Amino acid sequence: MPTRQTTERRPKEENHTMPEALMPDLSPLAAGDLLTEDQLPFAAPHPEGDALKIEPEAPIKTWFGVGGKARQFAHVRSLAQLRNALRMEPALRVLGDGANLLVDDSGVRGLVVKLADPLSSCTIDDDGQLRKRTRDSKWTHDGKRLVYVGAGAHLFKVMNQTVAAGLGGLEVLAGIPACVGGAIVMNAGGAFGQIADVVRTVYALRREDPSTLIALPRERIAFGYRSSGLGHLVIVGAELALTPGDAGALKARMKEINDYKLTTQPMRANSAGCCFKNPVLLAPLAGVGEAGQRVSAGKLIDLAGLKGTRLGTAVVSDLHGNFLLCDDPEHGSASDIIALIELVREKVQERFGVRLENEVVVWKG
Ligand SMILES: Cc1cc2nc3c(=O)[nH]c(=O)nc-3n(C[C@H](O)[C@H](O)[C@H](O)COP(=O)(O)OP(=O)(O)OC[C@H]3O[C@@H](n4cnc5c(N)ncnc54)[C@H](O)[C@@H]3O)c2cc1C
Repeated sequence: MPTRQTTERRPKEENHTMPEALMPDLSPLAAGDLLTEDQLPFAAPHPEGDALKIEPEAPIKTWFGVGGKARQFAHVRSLAQLRNALRMEPALRVLGDGANLLVDDSGVRGLVVKLADPLSSCTIDDDGQLRKRTRDSKWTHDGKRLVYVGAGAHLFKVMNQTVAAGLGGLEVLAGIPACVGGAIVMNAGGAFGQIADVVRTVYALRREDPSTLIALPRERIAFGYRSSGLGHLVIVGAELALTPGDAGALKARMKEINDYKLTTQPMRANSAGCCFKNPVLLAPLAGVGEAGQRVSAGKLIDLAGLKGTRLGTAVVSDLHGNFLLCDDPEHGSASDIIALIELVREKVQERFGVRLENEVVVWKG
């Protein structure tokens, strides 16, 4: 009989507040060191002005393909529009690509925003001109090329654009659906690398006082396994430092990783990728790992005999135990998935004494 493990219980829903001690040091943009707000390409004003166009009762598009609506929804196209939205509702929710998100069937009461162009733009500082405007001595960092991306940019587009330009660093994230903001908040990655490896500066607004654009250098961000400590902020963009390389070789690597994932994960199914974080064992578990080791949640789910388990339209993938899928979104519901998450958690705890924590974010209320 394996030793019982306990892991910390985490609230199922998102929490925007953070203990004071964990708050990163937030520096307002410092002229002469970093680009100022009017120099950042993704922070350009929008020709339609600063007013928000709010849609009532709008669907929230997620990869699961199920779940309720947002009472209010807005595409936010400039920092000024985002500031207006935050002043209206500091606790608003930000939707990225919806690839790690499950929305309760009853939907969410407040405002949901999605960042759109130019907050979804990607600008490669080709000749160092952007950087030179503020610091003309040096525009690369350790021989790297700087790229300015809006948080609403789709990761795969930024990856394709930078790889085509012969810049390496993002190709290791092939196959991960995300917007740049969502990828940074979750520190998206896996066996091949993580986004934290290429982030040089994150630009964000505080919810309670959005007037100042803040810049967080990489060293001040507590990136960890699938975490960044930044979820309480609204990320608006980032400066990435990429490594010049051969475009053909980078493209081939991207394809190789993508092909590997297609054979080991149900990449085209309706899911949120891995539903649970890989847990750290508190005691050795025969055939699984040693105490202190982070082990695969998918393996535990598989060993517990849960692959293929179904509740309504929600099913544990046969290919990868940590992928919980909705195989009929038209008739499916978030409640089927929530029930399956709880069932899997219970069974794994019963069998191994390990409590699995959600990686998927659940929006409710
Ligand atoms: C098929 C598939 C494969 C996957 N494979 C992987 C993998 O290999 N590795 C991995 O790490 N993940 C993987 N995932 C999960 C998902 O791709 C990542 O978690 C990704 O980072 C989610 O980004 P998103 O933009 O979709 O965020 P969303 O799902 O839209 O949001 C997730 C959270 O981020 C917050 N957020 C989003 N944007 C911002 C912002 N600008 N500012 C503040 N908060 C924000 C949201 O409010 C929410 O709390 C996979 C998912 C799928 C569907």
